[in-house]
Amino acid sequence: MKVLKFGGTSVGSASRIKEVAHLVCNGEKNIVVLSAMSGTTNNLVEIANHLYKNDRDGANSVINALEQKYFKEIDALYSTNEYKEKGKELIEYHFNHIRSYTVDMFTAFEEKAILAQGELISTAMFQYHLAETGKNSVLLNALDFMRIDKQNEPDMPYIKENCGSVFKQNSGYDIYVVQGYICRNAFGEIDNLQRGGSDYTASLIGAALGVDEIQIWTDIDGMHNNDPRFVENTRSIAKLSFDEAAELAYFGAKILHPTSVLPAKLANIPVRLLNTMKPDAVGTLISHFQEKHRIEAVAAKDNITAIKIKSGRMLLAHGFLRKVFEIFESYKTPIDMVTTSEVGVSVTIDDNRHLSDIVEDLKKFGTVEIDANQVIICVVGDLVAENVGYASKILNSLKGIPVRMISYGGSNHNVSLLVNEKYKKEALNSLSKHLF
Ligand code: ASP
Ligand code: MG
Repeated sequence: MKVLKFGGTSVGSASRIKEVAHLVCNGEKNIVVLSAMSGTTNNLVEIANHLYKNDRDGANSVINALEQKYFKEIDALYSTNEYKEKGKELIEYHFNHIRSYTVDMFTAFEEKAILAQGELISTAMFQYHLAETGKNSVLLNALDFMRIDKQNEPDMPYIKENCGSVFKQNSGYDIYVVQGYICRNAFGEIDNLQRGGSDYTASLIGAALGVDEIQIWTDIDGMHNNDPRFVENTRSIAKLSFDEAAELAYFGAKILHPTSVLPAKLANIPVRLLNTMKPDAVGTLISHFQEKHRIEAVAAKDNITAIKIKSGRMLLAHGFLRKVFEIFESYKTPIDMVTTSEVGVSVTIDDNRHLSDIVEDLKKFGTVEIDANQVIICVVGDLVAENVGYASKILNSLKGIPVRMISYGGSNHNVSLLVNEKYKKEALNSLSKHLF
C-alpha cells in the first residue's frame, strides 16, 4: 500500500481531478490524501477575517462567490444527473455549514471549523467521481484519527491506533480517499496541521500504517538543485537523504512541507516527489541513502531578520547563550542560524511578530543591532569536514557578495550563508555556476 498526496493545484479544476483519478487507479491499493482545491483555503481565511471584524456582508460575498465556483466545477466533473445532483447537495451542505458559523461571537473555534471545509469538499467531490466511474473506493474522515496534542504536535500513539482501526474496519477497497491538513486537537475540537499541512498528513498516515512509500505529487518534477524562479537550467535531484531533504524543505524548497520529513524518516518509509504533469518523470526519491562526495542543491529562505547582541560581559561568561536563547523561547520565536564570537552573538529569525519585545529584553545583555531583509542561502549535500575544499568552493562562488553570517559544521549536510535580499539572485546563480 502507498500514500499518494495531491496538492491544491493538482485538484484545482474538474479536469485536473479527473487526471488525478486516472493516476491513482493504477491497479494497486492506494491511500489518496488531498488538499483543498487551489485558492479555497485562502478564501476561507478571508471569510474568517471578515467575521473576526464582524463584517458579515464581506464574509457572505466571499462565501457566495466561492459557492458559485464550486457549482461550476461540479457540473464539469460529473456526467450523470444522479451525481450532478449529489454534487450540488454536497456543495450546498458545506456552504450552509460555513454560513452557520457567521455568528456574533466569532472565535478561533469557528475559524478552524471553516478552514476544514476545503479539504472535506475536495475529498468528497473526488470520491463521488471515483464512485460515478465505478471505482472501488471509500471516503474516510481524517477527523476520526488525526489528532494533535496540547503542544500542537501530532499525537502519534493516538494516530497510529485509530488510523489502524479505521483502515481495518474499511478493508477491501482499492482507493482510500482522505483529507490532508485537518485534524482534531487535544480537546476534540476541529483543528489543522498549519498551512501547507497536507504533506504532513500524508507522512503521518504513511508512518502510522507502515506503508511501502509516500508519494507527494505536485506540478514540478521533484526537488531541483536550485530555485527555478531565479536560476535557469536547474535540474531535479534523483536521490536525497531524509536529512538533506529536511534542510532543503526548511530553507526554501517550496515543494515539500518541512515537517513532513520526520515521521517518514523515523518510520523509514521512502518519500517520492512526483509531477502530475509528467507522471513518468523519475522525480526525487528521499530515503536513508546518503550520496557521498556531492553537493546536491542550493535553496533560499526569505524575510529573515538578523539580530546581533554585543556584550563585554560575554567574555568567559558561561550561561550567556542560555539567557539569550531563553528570551527567544519566551516569545515562542524559533532561531534559524547562530554564529558566535567572544564579544557577541548573531542569530536569525523569520518570525518578526515579537521583534520589538525581544530587542527590549536583549538590551539587558548589551547593545543590539538589527538587519532586516536578509536571506538565508543554504547549500546542501555531503559536506563532512573530510571533503576538503567544499567549504572554500562555496565561499569562492560568492566572491564579491557581502556575506553577513556563515554557519558550517552544524550538521554534515548544510552550509548556511546570510546575505541581503538584494544579492539573492546573484548568489543563487553564482553558486549554481560554480557548484554544478
Ligand atoms: N489547504 C491547506 C493550505 O492551503 C493545506 C494544504 O494545501 O496542504 O494550506
Ligand atoms: Mg503544498
